Amino acid sequence: MPYAGRFAPSPTGTLHAGSLVAALASWLDARAHGGRWLVRIEDVDTPRCLPGADTTILQQLATCGLVPDEPPVWQSQRGALYEQALQRLVEQGLAYPCACSRKDIEQALQQAGQHKPRHGELVYPGTCRSGLYGRSARAWRLYTGRCMERTHPQKQPPARMEIAQTATEFIATKDATLHWSDRRLGPQTQDVEHEVGDFVLRRADGLWAYQLAVVVDDAAQGITDVVRGQDLADNTARQILLQRALQLPTPRYLHTPLVLGANGEKLSKQNGAQPLDLHDPLAALQAAATKLGLPAGSASTIPEALHHWVTAWSAHYLKGTA
Ligand code: GLU
Repeated sequence: MPYAGRFAPSPTGTLHAGSLVAALASWLDARAHGGRWLVRIEDVDTPRCLPGADTTILQQLATCGLVPDEPPVWQSQRGALYEQALQRLVEQGLAYPCACSRKDIEQALQQAGQHKPRHGELVYPGTCRSGLYGRSARAWRLYTGRCMERTHPQKQPPARMEIAQTATEFIATKDATLHWSDRRLGPQTQDVEHEVGDFVLRRADGLWAYQLAVVVDDAAQGITDVVRGQDLADNTARQILLQRALQLPTPRYLHTPLVLGANGEKLSKQNGAQPLDLHDPLAALQAAATKLGLPAGSASTIPEALHHWVTAWSAHYLKGTA
């Protein structure tokens, strides 16, 4: 499959020093492979989007010489694709409606003696796997246990099986751990069912969840290599599970180093990262390249600098993977 990469910003703010690192890395990887580089505006979480941030991001990228090879796409216009994917999962018995509020989940976890959130997220205890019992559906969740069963061809579940029975049998028999290899971080593992739980595909407010939208779009756009910030690495197992459930190819993954703020935390729009100062775009790019471990070089124009970094990127990140 010909190389295709992407940069997928959420327009909840404009670019900051951290997001420029991810943008530059994905652009360099695409150029180093002689492939296409796309931009996808991830605006599914509409209440969190900042009006006009999408246009500003595209302008900021262009100022840095990072211009997509095809017109950008907006996730807010692709709901029909996500709906189709959810329907496929429902038809296969891999997605189910969930009536739980956050409070219900907290209570269920407390009763089970497991109330520790993981990265601020509650591990869903599977309450609605066996039905809603008259409560109204709020969100849709992926049945992670059954998805794992599908990823072990030697352990195909019988064609017809009661949901509750599947859940218990599965827990009793499976090795639920997903293994994959990150191009920078090396071998990774996660037991999605137990470490994350059945995760949301469509939210209680009707909005599409990031995990579903990103998997559908990466496949629809033929993305072969996902290059993005390391803060997103933890989502990868969930995305691979969804790809398998939807019988979609799994891209290669490379997670880039994070830019930390003065408080030692990841620079993000949420913790008030300053927008990029693009009065001197070459200096901003040089800082991003340094974060990626690339030599600053002596280029005096953006095209020269980018050219120099493509070669440096190939030497640094493509060893054995090209
Ligand atoms: N939209 C996500 C963000 O801005 C990135 C998603 C991805 O690259 O997979 O954090």
